[in-house]
Amino acid sequence: MYLWNMSEQRKIMLIYTGGTIGMVKDFSTGTLKTFDFDKLVEHIPELHHLGCSIDSISFKQPIDSSNMNTDHWISIASSIEKHYTDYDGFVILHGSDTMSYTASAMSFLLENLKKPVIFTGSQLPIGDLRTDAKENLITSVQLAALQKNGEPLIREVGLYFEYKLYRANRTTKVNAEHFEAFSSMNYPALAESGVHLKVYEEYLLPSSKDVFSVHKSMDRHVAILKIFPGMHPSVVNGILELPDLKGIILETFGAGNAPTEAWLLEALQGAVNRGIHIVNVTQCSGGRVLMGRYETSDALLKIPLIDGRDITTEAAITKLMYLLGKDVAMSSFKSKFETSIRGEMALI
Ligand code: ASP
Repeated sequence: MYLWNMSEQRKIMLIYTGGTIGMVKDFSTGTLKTFDFDKLVEHIPELHHLGCSIDSISFKQPIDSSNMNTDHWISIASSIEKHYTDYDGFVILHGSDTMSYTASAMSFLLENLKKPVIFTGSQLPIGDLRTDAKENLITSVQLAALQKNGEPLIREVGLYFEYKLYRANRTTKVNAEHFEAFSSMNYPALAESGVHLKVYEEYLLPSSKDVFSVHKSMDRHVAILKIFPGMHPSVVNGILELPDLKGIILETFGAGNAPTEAWLLEALQGAVNRGIHIVNVTQCSGGRVLMGRYETSDALLKIPLIDGRDITTEAAITKLMYLLGKDVAMSSFKSKFETSIRGEMALI
């Protein structure tokens, strides 16, 4: 456990990408739309009293996070790279809808990170009387500023929402209405905000001695295929036969199980034989894939599908895009994917 106590001034960079946190209501249409980032800081004068010096940059055109894409991810990673040495920590303001995808992608793009990169947002706009934006933003800045023995305490990509800091690539948005919008079913919270700000150091990623580097390539020739009872073969074949497809995340039942119908197993086997990487992840929000435990996953083990263990779909798809972007050799792709590189999955 670690209690927050900030005595020296830290330099924090805020990167505003859009989302509800910076939205206002258009009263003529009743819809929420983005507005100028300067107005966001105006709404939280408390930021000036945190004992940090805070600079901010913003997307030229702030976006609803439904419009996030790989170019935006690379642009955020490049901004962090550009300002990396000048700041003690980074806070990324992002819409909650796709925050787990962007934050997972960032965890892969930023290798050997030695400073905190904290994603946050809100369910209610900053101007709303009952907004959750203030606490989320203020505590995220505090977390990004934490140091111990002159070094940043958190050296990974985190996601802070409603009093909890999670490892970003372990999160999923689970609620469209509650302030507690995210969960991390397979990994404990890294920190909790109550009367004290407690950081559970035992769960943080250990520091790496290797040099920080930023990757700037993600391959979009991927798909997510969620199986369901009664699925028509044309749906599976339509996806697996897409031209240029390089990999898919196959969302299976329970501990990684799927129908044992011949057409499905043949389609999956055929795709793997053609060099398409297929990762088995569970549709359940908690727990893990255990291929071979049931008869209904035995054939998948033998094909063989890549074992996604307890990875989230968000982390799996972004890891797939990242590894494909690195041109990993066909022969080592499976073992590379099955290796936890940023704490995104169980070790075995
Ligand atoms: N639609 C918004 C977005 O993801 C919701 C939010 O900000 O929480 O950009």
